[in-house]
Amino acid sequence: MSGRLSIVGLGPGNTELITPQVTRALEEANDVFGYVPYVARVPDRVGLAKHASDNREELDRARSALAVAASGRKAVLVSGGDPGVFAMAAAVFEAIEDEPHWHELDIEVLPGITAMLAAAAAVGAPLGNDFCAINLSDNLKPWDVIAHRLRLAVEADFAIALYNPRSKARPEGFGKALKIMLQAGAGERLVTFARNVSRPDQSLSTMQLSEAEPEMADMKTLVLIGSSATRRVGRFVYTPRRIE
Ligand code: SAH
Repeated sequence: MSGRLSIVGLGPGNTELITPQVTRALEEANDVFGYVPYVARVPDRVGLAKHASDNREELDRARSALAVAASGRKAVLVSGGDPGVFAMAAAVFEAIEDEPHWHELDIEVLPGITAMLAAAAAVGAPLGNDFCAINLSDNLKPWDVIAHRLRLAVEADFAIALYNPRSKARPEGFGKALKIMLQAGAGERLVTFARNVSRPDQSLSTMQLSEAEPEMADMKTLVLIGSSATRRVGRFVYTPRRIE
């Protein structure tokens, strides 16, 4: 039997947002690997071995999944949202970059609905014009890079999606990010705090950036900052397609 590694996205939480392609890969899997809460979202069944690991063990997790696939089994590596967005797909390619013997393995990446798109849909269409996504975690990149990108993103008038805005290990970062964006002139822009999107306890809150407080975000929140054209229409938030 030839092995395979499928790197899949489970979407933002609601099972109806998992693609049929991902569901099939999970049904065919012998082994599923991932961060504890994501592996818990995969239904148990006879013949499926679950390997849950801690958040910071991404490279080890990728290597374990690769080794199992190389042994002839069907391995699935799960991420929340999309596996290519600040998640496991890049970790797998980092793991095989200097290991040519892995390059012939049957590896596939199956997309999922990323938090940014689920959050945008929940409030309307804030990404209707040009946008960018920035990961606020400085675990894998210097804070200076984040600060620089935030400034330029405001200056370029992108709508901005912020992933990993604030964790217990990094309580200060989001407050610093807010200051940088205010200094860059984004005070009047709309910001939406989208927490637990697509889950039963989803919450959405929109205000001007100048009214935002650092405590409004946590690791379950996707922060969407509009461009200067982003506005409300009734209970929705949207960015028009046309720029004058
Ligand atoms: N690969 C994931 C992102 C991983 S980074 C994806 O494509 O969505 C983890 C961050 O994603 C969280 O800190 C949060 O900012 C965001 N996130 C993931 N699921 C979310 C949800 N259901 N609601 C709001 N934000 C979410």
